[in-house]
Amino acid sequence: PASSASLELNGVHAGYGDFAALFGVGLHVDPGEAVGVVGPNGAGKTTLLRVISGLIRPTAGSLRFDGHDLTTTPAHALPALGIAHVPENRRLFPHLTVEENLKVGAFSPAARPHFIARRDHVYELFPKMKARRHQLAGTMSGGEQQMCAIGRALMCGPRILLLDEPSAGLAPLVVQQVFDLVRRIRQEGLTVLIVEQNVAQVLRVVDRAYVLETGRVAAEGRSAELAADPAIRRSYLGGH
Ligand code: ATP
Repeated sequence: PASSASLELNGVHAGYGDFAALFGVGLHVDPGEAVGVVGPNGAGKTTLLRVISGLIRPTAGSLRFDGHDLTTTPAHALPALGIAHVPENRRLFPHLTVEENLKVGAFSPAARPHFIARRDHVYELFPKMKARRHQLAGTMSGGEQQMCAIGRALMCGPRILLLDEPSAGLAPLVVQQVFDLVRRIRQEGLTVLIVEQNVAQVLRVVDRAYVLETGRVAAEGRSAELAADPAIRRSYLGGH
């Protein structure tokens, strides 16, 4: 895969109209690192990913990606920088086949020449997608659709992959398969930022994580430290 890149947010405020959802969020993801953002419903996790992928502009603070100041880069220029966002609802084209969805992911002039090589790489990463390549995406199971959405995001040759709740709505066994896939992707050296409510699972695949509560970073640390932290265990891991 293409080289990975680093991401850095400082004091980011963002929201919707008059409603503020993020209050001075700071975080960083180093090249090749996998980082999680966990927290309860409405904490601002999705909003954070939207800010990073340029869908929402911060009202204050700064974002840097691979040396580029994202606060001044126009939103339409962000995909070309290598930021791939897999949104919570996946947004596949249900009436297109798996392979056609992958083609959409490689639609930009820069990505088009790499279509065959990247498609074959995606099929190597998830053989199931190869077996299903002529199936309409909308007729697949939730887990298969999630894998297809991740595959499509990889088609642009990203330098960072943003995943919004990849386990949402999936059965436990399928959740395992999706996280295995994330593990393989990160083993290839791609930088990954993953938002999750499934704290126990995500802490098994990321190096570090941030706990977001009502739009603020309430805790951060290495995965093993957070998994052992009594307050985190009580709030998010059903422990004591
Ligand atoms: P969830 O896991 O439920 O998606 P989250 O941590 O991702 O939660 P966000 O979706 O980022 O949280 O929402 C943060 C806050 O912003 C919430 O109070 C939410 O109601 C509000 N919000 C989210 N999207 C919008 C929107 N399009 N317009 C107005 N308010 C929004």
